[in-house]
Amino acid sequence: MSYAPVTTINLSAVASNWHRLSARAPGSETGATVKADGYGLGAVEVSKALFAAGCRTFFTAYANEAIAVRAAIGSEPRIYVLNGPVKAERALYTDHNLSGVLSTPEQVECWFKGRLEQPFALKFDTGMNRLGLPVSEVSALSDAAARDHTPSLVMSHLACGEDASNPMTIRQLGDFRAIADHFPGIPKSLANSAGCALGPDYAFDLTRPGIALYGGAPDTDTVVTLTAKILSVHDVEPGETVGYGATHRFEAPAKLATLSLGYADGLMRSFSNTGIAILGGQPCPFVGRVSMDLATIDVTAAAPLAKPGASVEVLGEQADLMAQASRAGTISYELLTALGPRVERTYER
Ligand SMILES: *Cc1c(COP(=O)(O)O)cnc(C)c1O
Repeated sequence: MSYAPVTTINLSAVASNWHRLSARAPGSETGATVKADGYGLGAVEVSKALFAAGCRTFFTAYANEAIAVRAAIGSEPRIYVLNGPVKAERALYTDHNLSGVLSTPEQVECWFKGRLEQPFALKFDTGMNRLGLPVSEVSALSDAAARDHTPSLVMSHLACGEDASNPMTIRQLGDFRAIADHFPGIPKSLANSAGCALGPDYAFDLTRPGIALYGGAPDTDTVVTLTAKILSVHDVEPGETVGYGATHRFEAPAKLATLSLGYADGLMRSFSNTGIAILGGQPCPFVGRVSMDLATIDVTAAAPLAKPGASVEVLGEQADLMAQASRAGTISYELLTALGPRVERTYER
């Protein structure tokens, strides 16, 4: 036995999440966003599972991520690089048949001047003000598209997709439709996971879900189980405290278990005195501060099971990813991508 925390990644759940999204948008292609090493779960394994499920369009953030995915899934699928091309990396796009997502005038120039023959996307900003070409570029780029620089995809990104009635979401849809009109016959894409839940108006030709594939959005199957081992167990008396800064003081006698898991593994310090772990079906609160390699839970409710070597669930069917993220004041995305290199990843197929 090792004390190392273990993450089990259920690849059939990834596939079933993809199939569910695909069934919801029958008229559209369902792609997959696998950036940040497949949201921390392993881009190679996750992409292989999605390819086997039928996915043929993938999105990464960087070219080097795309190269790893290309090696895993072969030459057929299209792989878009969301953060786009830079001159020094142009050869990577040709060598590995990668598709740039062009989001700045500099990237457009880089791609057009380099005469890259790979398919490429144009990404327009419809109000998020993060990354996307300004609407003022639409007419020049639609002229270029009608000549020799025809994109394979025109896209934009929603800022408030979690909220269907948000006026911004409705405004972005309208603005995207107006842009789309300038690119007749070219496939369009607007929806991330949240956009996929907004219904057929948002699906266009291709959707780009990420977090919903990995179980971090509503109505998804659980993909990730994170378990940690109990290292030691001890009793405390009223008035005693636990951990750095003595941030939790006990009012009553309690039994504590120290886990071999800390912020270096991705258990953020914001779990301190907020998150829970599950022992024998009982939620056991984190007490005191999470430290680098250790964290302490109050196992009074499951005292008979609290033994060195026993496993507790920190993420999984019972320790729900979205609920844990919310307790820790963050989002499912950050919890998954924070899982450290020390956490052993095992795959269930
Ligand atoms: C990350 C990202 C996605 C996927 O977003 P989710 O919320 O994880 O579904 C889709 N499109 C773009 C442009 C992104 O940056």
